[in-house]
Amino acid sequence: MKKIDFHLHVPKEDPTFEKYLRIMDRGRVTAALVHGVPGPGRDNAEVLRVVKAHPDRLFGSVHADLRRPVRESIALVRRYAEEGFRCVKLFPNLGFDPNAERLEPFWAAVEKLGLMCLSHCGWLANTGAFAGKRIESLLATPMHFEVPARRHPKINFIFAHFGGGGSYLETVTLLSRLPNCYADTCPGWGKWVFAERMPGVASLDFRKVLFGTDNSAQSGPSYAEQERWWGRTLRAMGKTPTDCRRHLYDNAAALLGLAAEKR
Ligand SMILES: [Zn+2]
Repeated sequence: MKKIDFHLHVPKEDPTFEKYLRIMDRGRVTAALVHGVPGPGRDNAEVLRVVKAHPDRLFGSVHADLRRPVRESIALVRRYAEEGFRCVKLFPNLGFDPNAERLEPFWAAVEKLGLMCLSHCGWLANTGAFAGKRIESLLATPMHFEVPARRHPKINFIFAHFGGGGSYLETVTLLSRLPNCYADTCPGWGKWVFAERMPGVASLDFRKVLFGTDNSAQSGPSYAEQERWWGRTLRAMGKTPTDCRRHLYDNAAALLGLAAEKR
């Protein structure tokens, strides 16, 4: 089945994205949304470069650190929106609250620019890149987007990793109540809630659930294996082939303004 990966980054060891595009080809992943993250090799400038090189398949998402002055963040997202970027990527674990009143002008600008917002959600271990750093996982949950999501109905919010482990019920709540809230199913929590069949996930409207891998097809299970896993898991939950297609392709195509083609 054709797929769209809603959550990728530029791989550090593959700055041109060429190798990853071959992985996408093998997995029938026709398009992807590529999100900037802080740090060399994966930042907004790198995303811009790969998106410009492959405008037919890759869509850009600008990372904004909202601890910065609001005016600066607005200028940043405007600059990348002018380059054709579709989304703002946030990482509230850095230490900001997306519900904060001081950010209201930022959300007004995001809405006016017609951008979506995908945020990292969920608990992170203090290992790897985060070792020794202060990361605040309590700020990175869906309810921290509830105020801008209600005030700005034209911004579509996507909670990455299904909104996190302990906070996944916030995702279930907002997805079932607000039309502009979505979640992706990136590993680890995004897969975990389905693997564990956590209460509330089976009855969700699958028009609100998006397939994303966070590049896991590079070193973990291939796209084909992931597709089989999702097929098995969702069928066991009583989901229909239409739900599966929506999860893997149609919902992302709709958000990106691509025709939901035949596959
Ligand atoms: Zn990610």
